[in-house]
Amino acid sequence: MTRTSPEASSLPVSDTEAHIELNEAYAAHNYHPLRVVLSSGEGAWVTDVEGRRYLDCLAGYSALNFGHGHPRLVARAQEQLGRLTLTSRAFYNDQLGPFARDLAQLTGKEMVLPMNSGAEAVETAIKVARKWGYLVKGVPENRATIVAMEGNFHGRTTTIVSFSTDAVATAHYAPYTPGFRLVPYGDAAALEAAVDETTVAVLLEPIQGEGGVIIPPEGYLQQVRTLCNSAGVLMVADEIQSGLARTGRTFACSHEEVVPDVYVLGKALGGGIYPVSAIAADGDVLEVITPGSHGSTFGGNPLAAAIGREVVAMLETGEYQECARTLGDRLAAGLGELVGNGVDAVRTRGLWAGVDISPELSTGRRVCEDLLDHGVLAKEAHGQTVRLAPPLVASEDDIDLLVRALGEVCAG
Ligand SMILES: *Cc1c(COP(=O)(O)O)cnc(C)c1O
Repeated sequence: MTRTSPEASSLPVSDTEAHIELNEAYAAHNYHPLRVVLSSGEGAWVTDVEGRRYLDCLAGYSALNFGHGHPRLVARAQEQLGRLTLTSRAFYNDQLGPFARDLAQLTGKEMVLPMNSGAEAVETAIKVARKWGYLVKGVPENRATIVAMEGNFHGRTTTIVSFSTDAVATAHYAPYTPGFRLVPYGDAAALEAAVDETTVAVLLEPIQGEGGVIIPPEGYLQQVRTLCNSAGVLMVADEIQSGLARTGRTFACSHEEVVPDVYVLGKALGGGIYPVSAIAADGDVLEVITPGSHGSTFGGNPLAAAIGREVVAMLETGEYQECARTLGDRLAAGLGELVGNGVDAVRTRGLWAGVDISPELSTGRRVCEDLLDHGVLAKEAHGQTVRLAPPLVASEDDIDLLVRALGEVCAG
């Protein structure tokens, strides 16, 4: 394929066009970004290379729950940057212990296992569940099964895409990792039918984020908990996107007073600064992990631990959960007005919304492009759904601006 190099163009191009050309020429096309090039951010707002400001209503897929450049997180990161950033786990460092203790306390679990990306944390949960299945439950070696949900999103590794139902995410990556069974999300009877004596875990998102902010039927998480208890199966909740205050509680499972056996955390755990992920579980589960049986060069490094610990401290006050509830109520009220006016349905929990755009009006993608012209950044989830997840530090005026912009876009 021939490339037109940016330098070859004789026409003057805007900074935006120049950056997009560079990206398209040299960075693999694994995303289809909106045509905006961001260069700075503060709180809920970002600025592009032309000096235009936008309200960030994607918030890094909820990695930016505390907004851009939160002073408390930046200060802690900068302090740690100048002190010690990486030791490897071949030695102890003075940041991991306090972080692990505080995160264990936040989750109500006895131990944590730190990783970096969300997908790595999911992989960790899968490995722990299988090993627990063989060593504790007594599943015959090589037979362990994990039940996952149709419409799931758990990351991009070869094992994780092996049980994805998204054709684009899975095509041409075979052979796939065996040992997974899929059932419809929200269907407790189907789940019960899929669980047998080989089952070591049920893996689910308490709300499916990438699936379009899909909230399961009331009582479903309770049913999953009860089934896992009676079948002797680990309930593994992927709270990477739903957790850490987004829904108005620290964890989305808490809305049904459900405590999973394993929490999988990521995204906002790194404060929008650094990739930090972890799983949290009790000792009877996590103690199957022994030296050499799992690891990561960067997982649990002092910089990650320092930032993660500050995030945990910020969550302990409950103030961000409160912001998610009050701003979320305001967003829900505003979005409710749009149903019937270009919007077919709205699902919200805390400051998190899935907005189904009427197919007669437009597509999710088109609406996001139009929102960009109104100074709002958002991203479609699946086809017709626009996912809204502003930083929890947004103001009431910001929420009103978002609702007004979406109303104007949907009015055509
Ligand atoms: C984003 C996400 C992941 C994957 O996290 P990465 O950091 O991108 O690897 C896994 N599960 C859920 C629910 C997510 O939203």
